[in-house]
Amino acid sequence: MALVNEHFLKLPDQYFFSEVTKKVNSFKVTHPKAHIIDLGSGDVSLPLPQAAVNAMHKAAEEFTSSHSFHGYAPRQGYPFLIEAILKNDYLSRGVSLEPSEIFINDGAKTDIGNIGDILRHDNSIGVTDPIHPCYIESNVMCGRAGCFEEEGLWSNVVYLPCTPENQFMPHIPSQRIDIIYLCYPNDPTGVAMNKTELKKWVNYAIENDALIMYDSTYEAYIQDPDIPHSIYEIKGAKKVAIEFRSFSKTAGFTGVRCGYTVIPKEVTATTLKGERIMLNKLWNRHRSIKFNGASYISQRSAEALYTSEGKKQVKEFVSYYMHNTQLMKDMLSQTSLSFFGGNHAPFFWIKAPGHLNSWQFFETLLYEANIVGTPGIGFGQNGNEYLRLTAFNTTEQCKEAMQRIQQWAKQ
Ligand code: PLP
Repeated sequence: MALVNEHFLKLPDQYFFSEVTKKVNSFKVTHPKAHIIDLGSGDVSLPLPQAAVNAMHKAAEEFTSSHSFHGYAPRQGYPFLIEAILKNDYLSRGVSLEPSEIFINDGAKTDIGNIGDILRHDNSIGVTDPIHPCYIESNVMCGRAGCFEEEGLWSNVVYLPCTPENQFMPHIPSQRIDIIYLCYPNDPTGVAMNKTELKKWVNYAIENDALIMYDSTYEAYIQDPDIPHSIYEIKGAKKVAIEFRSFSKTAGFTGVRCGYTVIPKEVTATTLKGERIMLNKLWNRHRSIKFNGASYISQRSAEALYTSEGKKQVKEFVSYYMHNTQLMKDMLSQTSLSFFGGNHAPFFWIKAPGHLNSWQFFETLLYEANIVGTPGIGFGQNGNEYLRLTAFNTTEQCKEAMQRIQQWAKQ
């Protein structure tokens, strides 16, 4: 008789975002004429940069002949893409990495979800609260998060509150944590971490022999030159941090699927006997078991983003959403709503008015203004008084949604 992984059964029955979709769909059934504007989705709306599309066509053409056909990709990714990443994303910022420290994947989520396979099941984990659910849920599956307790918290997780009082920057904890997840610019709060704050975390990890999982999926949206795009811009981080990057929000690759993970060779973890093991080596082995590489077409298309034409188009892509963000910020500022974010990421973290909780705020906006947001409770207990709005819709829709919110807030 096959036994199920009992830890898996500890997960909520439904993925949080599916629950939101379900509620929106039932609203649509009862209100078929309503014009809904979706500012809840984290998915992009613009088409792919043309340079990426052209590279895709060219790559697809290569598959039509046995001379230029491509089979399995090199395990860590094609050198042409790795070289472009090293030069443009790292060397240009003073960070020197080796090609073998980059692992191309099919988007950040796969590696964020799987990286725990190479770490012991009883490491303690620390997460910011709020946080994207995938960091916790991937740890629940293997038992690392412990049990779900009545207060809505996991027993083996250290929660690092992010609230207006600390400007959504977690305080350094007094206790030791083995693995800390940080995501900046942050989804859902939209707040970015400056060098001084990030340095505190790198120093904490060095002093406590801890490991940082740094998700910089939204780095392309950073507007201030003093805010680091990579954790490796901080001295010492190459010893203690793994970084996750994605082309999803930089260039609209949510459907194409391509990203990468950086594991410097200096990053180690220990065995129970105290032997230090290089995580880069373990991850390479892991990839040989669970992954056969991102497609040639997606990697060629990602490479094209680093050409001069591609860079220009990526800039326009990001600017479009940041323009939406600025417009939303200006219009939200004219309301009585209290909100955060919207400076270095296309996210707003809006405080629910009155005594509404996040689900009530979600339903009120849906029913009274036909606007979809994401209830903050999906990101943790500290989100229970918030709603996340994104600027990934079209400018017209973002503007109309803000006009509706202005009207609604006046009532
Ligand atoms: N990390 C964060 C913070 C995200 O918001 C998302 C997606 O929305 C991801 C990772 C996953 O991105 P990808 O499309 O590369 O899997």
